[in-house]
Amino acid sequence: MNYRLVKALRGLLSAAIMFFILALPVQAREEKVEWEKVDRESLELLTEYLRIDTTNPPGNEIAGARFFAELCKREGIEHRVFEPFPGRGTLWARIRGDGTARPVVLLNHLDVVPHSKEFWSVEAFSGTIRNGFIFGRGAMDMKSLGMAQFMAMLTLKRSGVRLKRDIIFLATSDEEAGGLLGAGWFSKNHPELLGNAEFLFNEGGSNVVDAQGRVLGIGVGPSEKTPAWLRLVAMGEPGHGSVPRPQSAVNRLLRALNRLLEYTPPVQLTPVVEQAFKAYATLMQAEQAAQFADLRESIKNPDFLRIFEMDPGARALIRNTISITVLEASNKINVIPPRATAEIDTRLVPGESLDRWINEIRGVIQDDSIKIEPILAFGANASPLDTSLVRSIRHISKKRFPESVITHPVLTGFTDSHYFRELGIHCYGFSPFVASPRELGEGFHGNDERIGVRPFLDGVKFLYEVIDHLSK
Ligand SMILES: [Zn+2]
Repeated sequence: MNYRLVKALRGLLSAAIMFFILALPVQAREEKVEWEKVDRESLELLTEYLRIDTTNPPGNEIAGARFFAELCKREGIEHRVFEPFPGRGTLWARIRGDGTARPVVLLNHLDVVPHSKEFWSVEAFSGTIRNGFIFGRGAMDMKSLGMAQFMAMLTLKRSGVRLKRDIIFLATSDEEAGGLLGAGWFSKNHPELLGNAEFLFNEGGSNVVDAQGRVLGIGVGPSEKTPAWLRLVAMGEPGHGSVPRPQSAVNRLLRALNRLLEYTPPVQLTPVVEQAFKAYATLMQAEQAAQFADLRESIKNPDFLRIFEMDPGARALIRNTISITVLEASNKINVIPPRATAEIDTRLVPGESLDRWINEIRGVIQDDSIKIEPILAFGANASPLDTSLVRSIRHISKKRFPESVITHPVLTGFTDSHYFRELGIHCYGFSPFVASPRELGEGFHGNDERIGVRPFLDGVKFLYEVIDHLSK
């Protein structure tokens, strides 16, 4: 079919669907901002953004960076595009405050993870809107949040309010592969463009909403576990498979891995994790609440600990963890190879030291001939909770969701925040998308990734209100 016709039809269809969506009752409008217009624009722009294929690898985030650069140009927003590695783009943009407070950074990543076409019911880069959801790779992780951040900044600019602080929008590449070529590169090469920022908003927040849609908790995440990706390298005498060698590289490696499998790292309850459960405790029934409010005491009871650790996510927050993921040795059945390697994905609790952990691993595997090489490892810090950013989120949350409390989730995964915590910026995982699991969407790194249109649009406004409160 004629491409223009397809495009026009597609536009019409989305417009029709949008009409029904926007006809739903919404909360009272503020005078200054025309929210219907912002809603329409946010949805259109997210759809366009989702159509840009930034699958990493190879990334090609430069296409996403140029997309935002075009928008900035149109709106008269100061911006710069960087392409330090071919195809790997980063966009920086800023609206100015009067400088009486330090800048706030809105951080998001342009890249998305690969998808398996055969398991998707829509084209992953079509931005299809169906049954109140926007589909597309990146709809949850994290093009929706990137767009919400952009719209919040743009809406603030258009409203003409006087801001105390600069608002910096930073869209980076390579997050899904560790961020070295994106946030890592930027934080190292252009820290001056962050203007001694005080705060940073990033992905990694999670909210608690029950099946009835009651909003119980708004998450402001101050920290995350840190990766310590390690490679174990075993060497041994090579030979023919017909004459076994007990000290072959493969045998040595297997013995070492077996010891790791048998090993359980000790419990290490860090203050930030303790605090996270203390905040969750306010959402629990009386007896449970008392136990979780004082986790340090409770985990001394083996019965409590056993039940607590039945949840693998909870377990991962109180111990370093080890997952053996990549194995390589001979590529031929009758060849005993001189070298065998294993990559192990270990994750450390916030505050743990890499050197200490490697020593612990060395002690466990009991084979000094095996080399332990770090592949990717960062320091893990936590950001304080007594800050004006956390107070702004609390203030706006109370208005929007009077029943809710603020929680402080600690991620078992990791985001790009650590690059900026290392620069002394207080970084927080915060998601302004608040809805029951059914309405919110799903498919984070999975199939048919999607976000509900209404939670997305409400999220744009929620984020705007928080940044507005923080910056006025
Ligand atoms: Zn992400």
